[in-house]
Amino acid sequence: MKAWFRMDLWKRVMIGLVIGTLIGLGLRYGLSEEASARAAEYFKPFGDLFLNLIRMLVVPLIFLTLVSGVLSMGDPKKLGSLGGRAIGVYMCTTAVAVTLGLVIGTILQPGAGFDVGSVSQDDIESTRQRLESAGAMETAGVFEQIMRTVLAIVPTNPVDAMARGDVLPVIFFAIMFGIGILMAGEAGKPVADAFNSASEAILKLTLLIMETAPYGVMALMAWVMAAYGLDVVIALGMMTLALYLACGLHMLITHGFLMKFIAKLPLLPFYRGITDAQMVAFSTSSSSGTLPVTMSVAQKNLGIKKPVASSVLPLGATINMDGTALYQGLIALFAAQALGIDMNFGMYITVAVMATLVSIGTAGIPSVSLFLATTTLGVIGATPEQMLLILAPLFAFDRLLDMMRTVTNVTGDLAVSTVVARWENEIDTEVFVAEDRY
Ligand code: ASP
Repeated sequence: MKAWFRMDLWKRVMIGLVIGTLIGLGLRYGLSEEASARAAEYFKPFGDLFLNLIRMLVVPLIFLTLVSGVLSMGDPKKLGSLGGRAIGVYMCTTAVAVTLGLVIGTILQPGAGFDVGSVSQDDIESTRQRLESAGAMETAGVFEQIMRTVLAIVPTNPVDAMARGDVLPVIFFAIMFGIGILMAGEAGKPVADAFNSASEAILKLTLLIMETAPYGVMALMAWVMAAYGLDVVIALGMMTLALYLACGLHMLITHGFLMKFIAKLPLLPFYRGITDAQMVAFSTSSSSGTLPVTMSVAQKNLGIKKPVASSVLPLGATINMDGTALYQGLIALFAAQALGIDMNFGMYITVAVMATLVSIGTAGIPSVSLFLATTTLGVIGATPEQMLLILAPLFAFDRLLDMMRTVTNVTGDLAVSTVVARWENEIDTEVFVAEDRY
């Protein structure tokens, strides 16, 4: 028992992930479909409990640490350079991700053998309802899309934005409030001290809650595998392969490039340092939900300092979704191949631009990609009926694909934060390379 608790957290989480996967697969393929679905339901509440615990931290963590981050920066101008750099690199990595999705989709042709006639009417109906209730069937133009995002950033009521868990308006208000405290000078000192102390406390609480991660991840994996199994591999074999391959390459090559050549830091400590966050992302399928873990590993394992970790990571959890954008490229090609639509060069470019834009203003929650996909499919000229034919099977088997996209999204946020922290001299490289963590 003592040995278990002495073991590094990431190893314990990894063990939880493997055991959960094995339990889930055992149930799925050892029992009848009905019995395994029932067994899955026993695991779900434990997974949800873990998810609730980390979600509970999202808003207070962003608000408290970001206000305190702005205070420790001391100069609002620095925030401008930091934000500008972060957004610039985020956009570039997202564009590379869509391109990679389009390239892999062109090579592997995931939609070529897919028979749209085999999609069941029930799946089409449930997909239509999901998309309509999320308002995803009303597609917007580029200008409208940008303005929607910009307007969503400024909250009319910050408390309401916090209650709804809307990350971008909370970021906006926290920055403005931090600037207000700085401008108040001496009079703002007591509240500044209070924020600094509260942000330390919430970071400690995050570490405490992370101790439950091995069990939470195990329960989530047991539930996912018992409920969904590996059916996606059979149903959407090429699509699954294409997504996993493209995401893997993106994390290794694009993020590896950022680390090695832009941040000029070694790769291994980076990948080892972020394992906790990747595994939580994989099991929860939500990069917003994973945010507290992402912020915690950034500071504890990568040595990224508060001003960068508290601003660049929450921003990334909403605006930077490499895996999601990459998947938009793949979906476009999957649809074009399955529906027999000819993609010309202009369409490739529009898909890339649209995918980058739509992946911005949306929160990182499970299956968000599929709600965004109506816009991408609109670009290649699919009718609403055709969109349903494509999205229905993807919805039915999305979970395993979503898990990989979410890992890629979170890895992207951490890679870009490391780069920005390096540029801004806000990283403790001794912590980054520390061996005793392992
Ligand atoms: N689930 C993903 C995330 O939270 C978004 C997606 O569906 O691609 O990052």
